[in-house]
Amino acid sequence: MTRDFSAELVACLGDPVRENPTGVMVEAAFAALGLNWRYLTIEVSASRLRDAVVGIRALGMRGANLTIPHKVAVIAHLDRIAPDAALIGAVNTVRREGDQLIGENTDGKGFLRGLHLDAGVDPRGKQAVVLGAGGAARAIVTELALAGAADILVVNRSIERGEGMAAELARKTGASIRFEAWRGAYRIARGVDLLVNATSIGLYPDVDAMPPVDWGGASDHMLVSDAVPNPPETRLLREARGLGLPVLDGLSMLVHQGAIGLRMWTGQDAPVDVMKEALRQAFA
Ligand code: NDP
Repeated sequence: MTRDFSAELVACLGDPVRENPTGVMVEAAFAALGLNWRYLTIEVSASRLRDAVVGIRALGMRGANLTIPHKVAVIAHLDRIAPDAALIGAVNTVRREGDQLIGENTDGKGFLRGLHLDAGVDPRGKQAVVLGAGGAARAIVTELALAGAADILVVNRSIERGEGMAAELARKTGASIRFEAWRGAYRIARGVDLLVNATSIGLYPDVDAMPPVDWGGASDHMLVSDAVPNPPETRLLREARGLGLPVLDGLSMLVHQGAIGLRMWTGQDAPVDVMKEALRQAFA
């Protein structure tokens, strides 16, 4: 019997990327699934992105993750992009179909899956407030809109960025997406079902930072979710838990977006518990 010593390759391309823990999670999944696949974390400067994508084709790699600063720039080098990635305007995952490289965005999808599986919440018909208007917020707002959220309020410090994003995504998805400028503490209104922190406030090493919110009229059932994956228990989530509110951490989104990407590459269901544990250890 002939033996196959070659490994299938996937990579994470970014700059900076050395502290990105995705590889730990994906390699743990490959090992658990018994796959001879490797996930490489590779620093690629903006000026080298085109060459790197040519390299993905030349090496027959199965796909890649893209992180800062490549999520938008990579689109120009792909054969096509998925409809929701086109709406979001950014690609975090590339998969290969034959000779074609296809751009996907799994961030918002991972958030939604975590919402369903880890928090038991279906966003259909719900009122959501999303803090932030950067890449993570765009992905989350888009997927909430596509999943039928009744109303999404984007709250952001930079008016231009927040207003522009809310108006564009409302137009493109047909959903009710409004904007409010973030001045002082944002007062949560009664009736909000879901609060999402999609800013980088609270991200390591700034672990004592807390998005300025006034819990004001928060309903007892409001789910408080944080996109910040490190630390998993942010100050926002600690406060929410102290108030007796249900919470969902950023590890959930990170693991599920990775699981969705892994399935796109390998066709196999990802071992999410193994992936989450690998990340917990990496962040410990
Ligand atoms: P961006 O840089 O694109 O956006 C950052 C956002 O945070 C902007 O809306 C910015 O507001 C806001 N912000 C930053 N600092 C402050 C502050 N001091 N006060 C008010 N607003 C502030 O980042 P990303 O969208 O890529 O990432 C955001 C977070 O999401 C990060 O913590 C990242 O780790 C996390 N993330 C998690 C993922 C997961 O799988 N769990 C996946 C992707 C991201 P302004 O526009 O005013 O500057």
